[in-house]
Amino acid sequence: MTLVATPIGNLGDLSPRALETLRGADAVLCEDTRVTGALLARHGAAVPMLPLHDHNEDDQTPRLLARLRAGERLALVSDAGTPLVSDPGFRLVRAAVAEGLSVGAVPGPNAAVMALTLSGLPPQPFLFLGFLPPRGGPRAAALAGVRAAERAGLSATLVFYEAPHRLAETLSALAEAFGGQRPAAVARELTKRFEEVRRGTLSELAAHYGAEAARGEVVVVVGPAPEEATGEAELDARLREALAAGMSVRDAAAAVAEATELPRRQVYGRALELGRGGAAQD
Ligand code: SAM
Repeated sequence: MTLVATPIGNLGDLSPRALETLRGADAVLCEDTRVTGALLARHGAAVPMLPLHDHNEDDQTPRLLARLRAGERLALVSDAGTPLVSDPGFRLVRAAVAEGLSVGAVPGPNAAVMALTLSGLPPQPFLFLGFLPPRGGPRAAALAGVRAAERAGLSATLVFYEAPHRLAETLSALAEAFGGQRPAAVARELTKRFEEVRRGTLSELAAHYGAEAARGEVVVVVGPAPEEATGEAELDARLREALAAGMSVRDAAAAVAEATELPRRQVYGRALELGRGGAAQD
């Protein structure tokens, strides 16, 4: 079986080897036969297609493994980009690998890597997180998990896929989780006519897309946690100093969150604890 990457917008990005592999396949496994059918037709390739998507992958896998065992050449594509990356195919590949069947790939376009390389943010290490949960609560919980990993030492550029209609709220959630001053980039419509990479802090990007809804496909890239002392001792010292100077808990938290680029919620929670402790001691 061969995993074949296809264009993410610019049809000129289908490689000669990708085309050759698709032409020579006994069948092309694809998410949507209309999308892949159009790609094949454009290149005059008449190859049988079989739908493979999240809802039928488990059912189809035993049948497909039997075909691979029988020596058939199956190519796997997704609607766009590299198959398996936030797209179907992983369960089939895992099963084929477990059986010792041959699995190869024709590499090519991938929106996450292209966005990463254009973001101006450190390219490695990077952590690809795909789509965040669409609902606010689970999304905040997922981001809190990443932030906890950062506090435990993770320092990586983060890459997310997102739907355009959720971009503004996701950027706000990212600013809440990682601090509004964190550098980031939004890569939109990659390889297409209106390709754009907008770079700025999470606050700036959230404000921009809050005022002007994004159109097309987007990737969000977030820079790694700043190296400055995010340690708890440093946070406490700064908060104690601000509280001792007579600032309210709210103002102290806002000032320290701004200075340390730590999430407001985290700093406010700690400021409340310290404020309470201080009051008890008085
Ligand atoms: N397998 C694909 C790949 O290799 O990039 C990703 C498929 S995933 C279902 C679709 C998401 O990828 C989109 O919602 C968007 O976040 C991102 N994406 C795909 N094409 C893109 C493009 N041309 N410009 C920006 N983002 C894109």
